[in-house]
Amino acid sequence: MTGYFVGIESTAHTFSSSVVSSSGKVLSNIKSVYRAEEGHGIHPFKAAEHHRMNAVSVVLSSFKEASVEPRVVEAIGYSMGPGLGPCLRVGAVVARTLSLALDRPLVPVNHAVGHIELGCLLTGAKDPLVLLVSGGHTMLLQFSSSRWRVIGETLDITLGQLLDQFGRHAGLSSPCGSIIEEAASRSSKYIQLPYSVKGNDVSFSGLLTEAKKLYDMGERFEDICFSLQETAFAMIAEATERALALTEKKELLVVGGVAANRRLSEMLKTICVRHGASFLPVPPEYSGDCGAQIAWTAYLHYTSGFSVDASEATVRQSWRLDSVDIPWRSQANPERSRG
Ligand code: AMP
Ligand code: MG
Repeated sequence: MTGYFVGIESTAHTFSSSVVSSSGKVLSNIKSVYRAEEGHGIHPFKAAEHHRMNAVSVVLSSFKEASVEPRVVEAIGYSMGPGLGPCLRVGAVVARTLSLALDRPLVPVNHAVGHIELGCLLTGAKDPLVLLVSGGHTMLLQFSSSRWRVIGETLDITLGQLLDQFGRHAGLSSPCGSIIEEAASRSSKYIQLPYSVKGNDVSFSGLLTEAKKLYDMGERFEDICFSLQETAFAMIAEATERALALTEKKELLVVGGVAANRRLSEMLKTICVRHGASFLPVPPEYSGDCGAQIAWTAYLHYTSGFSVDASEATVRQSWRLDSVDIPWRSQANPERSRG
């Protein structure tokens, strides 16, 4: 019999609710995105206020679009972390309210695990090298010994932060990766910028400082966007290629908001061809934060026997994804889970 799961996402700028079925169909995925004032980053309390104001209509729309009655859901997933405290708490309150009203268990979900597991569902990836590039993460991962293990990451800011912080410096409002992509597509003038890859790790802070300096010196915005993308994406592609060679994985899954970028995809596709690996980017509409990531991962946890009741539903602002046990993958492949 088909079961239904609802997922609530509220880690940062996005408040989202989604209903998925136990057969892996995303029946709805409704979002409302807080936009910071121009030139500013996310203000946690203002973002939380945005989430409070929009939560009820987003959740109700997610049930309506899915044509699923709230009382038939089996469990309620919510993003427990990592993320901004005030934003996370709005999602947790909404999830606890649903849990008490519907008398259904809660499933706390690690947001980053949600990005990966929805990516696997939608692309059919079985045992991928994962590149997670978002506002909160820049990581290369593989599954081993019961967890998603980090084999490369940023040593300072994330790829999303690099783009958003540069965009803010130029007076845009966060998140601005898609505007930078569009501006970059109007230039082909490369300006030399710092390139910093250390093994499978990358560092973007020097690149950000130089890009801001170029902007202050009056270089054309489009040319800086082009040069910023070319440099940062080449760094990511180099680290990814090294990780593909090391792990010999035959699938590259790319998830997170920056996965929507077409130039990044182009570069990653080239390295996949060189290594005989399938290139599996998550569909753009599911690359950024969304409830479907949480609903599907809640389903996976729930069917592995994990849920909590409302009194245990807390939030965790810092919560690394490599501290989360992934029993459904260990059960599916006991050999690989031994690492
Ligand atoms: P997430 O945290 O997964 O929701 O991802 C948000 C991040 O993705 C923000 O830093 C956005 O600026 C970035 N982003 C969204 N679309 C694009 C795009 N087309 N190109 C580059 N970055 C993007
Ligand atoms: Mg995210």
